[in-house]
Amino acid sequence: MNNLEGDMTTMHKLIVSPFLGEYVVLRPGSPGGLKISEGKYRELAEAASSPSWFTDAVSASWGYDLSGSSFAETVLIRPESPYGYVRATYELNLGCNYECEHCYLGLKKFEGLSWPEREKLLYILRDAGVLWLQLTGGEPMIDKLFPEVYGLAYELGMMLTILSNGSRLANPKILELLTTHRPHDITLSMYGATEASYDGLTRRRGAYRLFTKGLAAAREAGLPLKLSLIVTNTNKDELEQMQAMADAWGIPHDAFVNMSPTIYGGPETLPTQSMEHLRKRKPFTGCHAGHTFFHVDPHGMASICKIGRDPQIPLMDEGVEGLTRLGAIADSLLLRQGGCTGCTLSGSCGTCMPLVTLYRKAKSPLRNYCQHQEREEVKA
Ligand code: SF4
Ligand code: SF4
Repeated sequence: MNNLEGDMTTMHKLIVSPFLGEYVVLRPGSPGGLKISEGKYRELAEAASSPSWFTDAVSASWGYDLSGSSFAETVLIRPESPYGYVRATYELNLGCNYECEHCYLGLKKFEGLSWPEREKLLYILRDAGVLWLQLTGGEPMIDKLFPEVYGLAYELGMMLTILSNGSRLANPKILELLTTHRPHDITLSMYGATEASYDGLTRRRGAYRLFTKGLAAAREAGLPLKLSLIVTNTNKDELEQMQAMADAWGIPHDAFVNMSPTIYGGPETLPTQSMEHLRKRKPFTGCHAGHTFFHVDPHGMASICKIGRDPQIPLMDEGVEGLTRLGAIADSLLLRQGGCTGCTLSGSCGTCMPLVTLYRKAKSPLRNYCQHQEREEVKA
């Protein structure tokens, strides 16, 4: 057995993996990474013990001492994948314990795959080459199989990020899991600086209290946190206060200010848009959706990303092979079409075609997404 087939039951401390034509070394739960040559990658794949250059590089990068530990158990070497994907997002379940007014998920049905199917899905993601996996929802941590999904994805050598509302972070079992198998980062949505606005936006009494409790537990455990400061008409006067709180906690933060229609093209989220905060998007110059990353919904349906969800590929039926069709789907979805065909402003337009399609379906005011604000809505 070479290291490419290493024993999955023991937990690795380092991942060596192909990454977009290069080769990298990563340490789960720690920032930073090392680039290595293809020759060194192959040397590691066949090595029975750590070469001295590798021991030294790991020690210099992370202060981790490889000497004295079993190389096969400590270092997980990911094989090359013919599919060429490196990132994916997996929506475990659309269900959520909040009812946020701006939520782009619309119906938020509490449905997901059974454990055997999820296991199959995670192996498909691994075989597709996915090195970075974002677990999201709904609220992923209220999904009853969250610990199993997280644990197996970790074991298979994926670097994990989590999007969460933080309401379950103080749960001892979840804290134990995340501190013993550390994620790369956890991005928490923050919906207000005060109980009134937070509970108002989420339409749940007690949500602010759960957030502060979860946040305190995660900070005390030293988990790697980021904050996404959500700004809608309900809490728009609290952005500065939220920023000041995040600074005081020493947590990196970003403001999320542009609201989307729902994934079904529903308009019900659009009135929450704070027009004074609407941010002009940077000109869209293309993206790698469907080529190097993809999205998987709670039913194991793969799409190019969270926005461009149609057409989908049923991974449970087609397996990893199904992903070979995703590149062509992406190319056709990203092409300017419908009312955008021949638009003279498309070069400076910041709204990609899948997002335009949703705004059009939702009959959104043009000012939310299009530079032709003076004319009538163009027909898709
Ligand atoms: S929403 Fe648009 S820019 Fe974002 S990943 Fe999808 S296609 Fe790319
Ligand atoms: S959304 Fe508006 S500005 Fe962008 S390409 Fe389409 S018509 Fe042009």
